[in-house]
Amino acid sequence: MIDFRSDTVTKPCAKMREIMFNAPLGDDVYGDDPSINKLESVAAQRHGFASALFCSSGTQANLLALMAHCERGDEYICGQNAHNYKFEGGGAAVLGSIQPQPIENENDGSLCFDKIRAAIKPKDFHFANTRLLSLENTIGGKVLPLSYLAQAREFTHSHQLALHLDGARVYNAAVALKVDITEITKHFDSVSICLSKGLGAPVGSLLLGSVELINKARRWRKVLGGAMRQAGMLAAAGHYALEHNVSRLADDHSNARYLAQQLSAIEGFNVDLSRDTTNMVYANVADNVDINAIAQQLKGQGIVFSPSKTLRLVTHLQITRADIDQFIAALTSALHV
Ligand SMILES: *Cc1c(COP(=O)(O)O)cnc(C)c1O
Repeated sequence: MIDFRSDTVTKPCAKMREIMFNAPLGDDVYGDDPSINKLESVAAQRHGFASALFCSSGTQANLLALMAHCERGDEYICGQNAHNYKFEGGGAAVLGSIQPQPIENENDGSLCFDKIRAAIKPKDFHFANTRLLSLENTIGGKVLPLSYLAQAREFTHSHQLALHLDGARVYNAAVALKVDITEITKHFDSVSICLSKGLGAPVGSLLLGSVELINKARRWRKVLGGAMRQAGMLAAAGHYALEHNVSRLADDHSNARYLAQQLSAIEGFNVDLSRDTTNMVYANVADNVDINAIAQQLKGQGIVFSPSKTLRLVTHLQITRADIDQFIAALTSALHV
């Protein structure tokens, strides 16, 4: 199967499975799982933080970050398109009693500091306490510039706000910018990272932060039912992913560029080639193209994507250039019957 729906669909390779199979295990609720302990200590160090927490998902890592930074009645500012506002079931409000204050994202995915400043609440009992600014990188495949991250750090310091990064795909950003990951993570008080997207682990995310913050998050993880026992098999996969699958993200990016070029040559598919979107390709589909019917037809040939008038195709560990050629050929012939 050739699956363009997301970079979450990858399956562990033979070597990763072998490492999972042989991972030393213990009960992590007692702090006894050597594989989880190793991942957490390696991850904290690797990203320049004092502490790290292995989480079941990116959604959980983001929620724990929000709940560790904010108390009941506090507020976080984020983008209207932020995953931790729009796509996580409203968890911060539902489970954390934390009020989101979304702001329209700019075209490049960033948030305008003037708009953030206007949204920060006065210190007055009428208002929620504005505590935190949450950014996302990459966002819709777009990389936030390093200079913007530095400005965000300065801005949050001057307004006494904490700064969180939803870095589900932060390694895509680092690889695209050709910088060490710490050039991005150093600006933040906390960072969440998905091991199960482009990095290719089957399950798991990391939350990084100070010892105090991670201790709070660890407690909330237990409250939320997310303290796992012998989950070292999963942590071992995550560790393998961090060691082996980072630099190869560049292949996903060049495959995405190749896919964007091929797709833009097809009538009815409008691709903005000036937009560098790491491992994601977006296309506007013309009204006369029945994208649902085409998706159905290609599915019969083992090619899967989510049909939409604003099509998103994602490259990953299990998409090769030959797969892209096969997709383009199948798409072209589906359009000409
Ligand atoms: C996928 C994703 C998440 C959540 O990850 P899950 O593991 O699916 O819960 C968070 N933020 C962003 C930007 C994502 O793309």
